[in-house]
Amino acid sequence: MELLPESLQTLRDRVAIVTGASRGIGRAIALELATVGATVVVNYARSSQAAEAVVAEITEAGGSAIALQADVSQPDEANHLISHTKKELGRVDILVNNAGITRDTLVLRMKLEDWQSVIDLNLTGVFLCTKAASQVMLRQKSGRIINIASVSGVMGIAGQANYSAAKAGVIGFSKAMAKELSSRGITVNVVAPGFINTDMTQELKEDYKQQVLKEIPLRRYGEPEDIAGMVRFLAADPAAAYITGQTFNVDGGLVMG
Ligand code: NAP
Repeated sequence: MELLPESLQTLRDRVAIVTGASRGIGRAIALELATVGATVVVNYARSSQAAEAVVAEITEAGGSAIALQADVSQPDEANHLISHTKKELGRVDILVNNAGITRDTLVLRMKLEDWQSVIDLNLTGVFLCTKAASQVMLRQKSGRIINIASVSGVMGIAGQANYSAAKAGVIGFSKAMAKELSSRGITVNVVAPGFINTDMTQELKEDYKQQVLKEIPLRRYGEPEDIAGMVRFLAADPAAAYITGQTFNVDGGLVMG
């Protein structure tokens, strides 16, 4: 990665937390925000080496980043992620709730733990981090919260009832938060990716992937950078200052209203 010239570093002096930034979409978001000058907290659950590699990539390019382990589905760990960032870096300007998992199966075969683990991380984790970060942002009277949902939460996908429910929940939660936080200049928006090339989609069967491809008007799977570009825009000031409570589908045209 390369940092943009200083005059184009629109997020200089901003502190951004990206949950689940060791791999995939979160990693691309962390790198993208760093190119425009943000100091990035690269959160991860288990992949410490991958997270440190993201930090190294940013710092070697002249940017600023730290890695911070926290399972954001756990209240104490989510709170620690935010409080440690505030203590070490002084602010929390941008929170990207990106960490997520799938446990795909039909509901008839779905175990309660498959349901619960997906809700715990993909929905409760968003609540926990948003609650903790918004306390800091309210005092700052500014902030950007960007939640990564999915087309699965917009249109529903068979075999993903747990994931569709969690992601639809994120969309509703974000609208409510947009209203709760608007008076202090804090915006809350959602990016809903379609099918993106990451470890998560590597797990899908090849014939299913081919079937999905036929339904994507742009005839390709997305790349993590396709999502990172939208997140960077939503974090930008003043470009996105008048946008809140919205969901942006970045999906090659898969979902059209
Ligand atoms: P991924 O490649 O599987 O990466 C998941 C990331 O989440 C990793 O950095 C992982 O950290 C982290 N993570 C997992 N459990 C965590 C926990 N309990 N606490 C904190 N971090 C945790 O996934 P991805 O495809 O990039 O997906 C990122 C987001 O986009 C998710 O919210 C996903 O639902 C959403 N999304 C993805 C697609 C897609 O097609 N890929 C489509 C729509 C939406 P470790 O490396 O430490 O495990």
